[in-house]
This record gives sequence, C-alpha cells and structure tokens, in this order.
Amino acid sequence: MSTALDKLDSQSRDALHDGTDPGSAAFLNTSASSLYYPVAYEVAMAKMDRCPICNVAVKPENLIRHLNDIHPRHPDKPGLLEELKEEPGRIPQKRAGRPIRIRRWQIAVVAVIVLGGLGAVYLPPLLSGTPAFPCIGQEGVGLVYHWHTDLTISSGAASVSIPAGIGISTFCLEPLHTHEANGRIHIETQTARLYSIGDFFRVWGKSFGNPTAMHVNGTAVTPNPSLTLYDLETIHLQYDSFS
Ligand SMILES: [Zn+2]
Ligand SMILES: [Zn+2]
Repeated sequence: MSTALDKLDSQSRDALHDGTDPGSAAFLNTSASSLYYPVAYEVAMAKMDRCPICNVAVKPENLIRHLNDIHPRHPDKPGLLEELKEEPGRIPQKRAGRPIRIRRWQIAVVAVIVLGGLGAVYLPPLLSGTPAFPCIGQEGVGLVYHWHTDLTISSGAASVSIPAGIGISTFCLEPLHTHEANGRIHIETQTARLYSIGDFFRVWGKSFGNPTAMHVNGTAVTPNPSLTLYDLETIHLQYDSFS
C-alpha cells in the first residue's frame, strides 16, 4: 500500500481524536451542547464511533459494515478494514456461535433428576411388595394370549364387588388384572403358561379361603383355587362371609 495514503489516513483520524477537526465531532463534545442535547443522546454518542472517511456517527460494531456499504470503492477502505478487524468489538458477537458450556452444577442437577426418576420407578414396587407375577411390558404388546374370565362372588346373600384396577399400578401391569369393576378378569401373558383363580386372588391380595360352593360356566365343581382360567368362562364363588 502507498505510504502517502496511510499518512493521510492517520492524519485525518488524529484530527478527529484531538477534537481539532472543525467538523461536527468537536462541536458535539463541547459542554455547550449539553444544553441543547438530552443527556441520553450524549450517552449514546459517547458509545458511537465515527467513520474515518465521511465522519458520520456509527456504532463501533457497525463501522466495518458501514465502510463496506457506504464506501465500497474508497481507496482507504481496504487498509481501514484490515486495522478495524484487529480491534475488539468491531465484529458483532454471534450468540448462536457460542460454544455450549456445561457446568458442574448442571451435571449435578441432571444427575439428581435421573437418580430421582430411577428411584420413583424402582422404589415403590419394593415398598409396596413385589408383584405376584412379572409385569407385562405394555398392554396388548407381545402377548402369548389375551383371555377373559368373568368372576362373581357372593358373601351370604350379598354380592361382592370386584374392583377395577386389580393388578394395575403406575409401575406394573400384571398378567392378571381388571380394567372395570364388572368382575371381568383379563389374562394377558407374555409367557406361555396358564394361570389359576388362586393366582388372581394373589394379585388381588385376598385369601381364596373356603368357598361353600363354586360354579364354572354354571356347573358346580369342588371349590379349588388351582382351577385354571380359560377364555370366555364364568366362575361363581359362594362364601358364607367374604372379606
Ligand atoms: Zn382384556
Ligand atoms: Zn388389560
């Protein structure tokens, strides 16, 4: 680059910084101007830079763009750009480009959440006792069979209601369960095995006890907890007193 241009360039900029330039820069810095310009304006101006070519006020981070947009072919521009790019704060900071910093406390928070979640999954079954049978993963998925048996229970002359949600908890769906309070036992197994009426009582948490009568599909049988549950059957149990 020619030294003449460099010299001219530095002279004109020195003049600006000294305030000896008769132009508007010096004018704005006089105390008299505070009488005419609101304080906020002065504060704003203090953060402003001036274009070395046209002397217009420009934000420091916008000066490079100003040179490119307004003085694309000015002979001083390439040299000025070189210098400005070295100075801090000339290029607007990109927020998106910041590297993601993971701090120690953030790791701790994640660890607490994960461990808390694991605790929520594994603790309640331990606290509430192990399920009678291994939980099936998901309703209707990977089942060997899905059968239904309708159960009715009488206690003396009264009928006993069999609640909904037997064998269903937040943490476990057991292969024997009820969805509604209508006595329908759902038998949904991922294992190729059969279950008995006694198994259902285990899931329910009730004792099979000593029924005085037992009917399967309307036929009287000897009361027996090991009676196998098949599909589309009805079982009736009669107790003197069921609890
Ligand atoms: Zn079912
Ligand atoms: Zn079900």
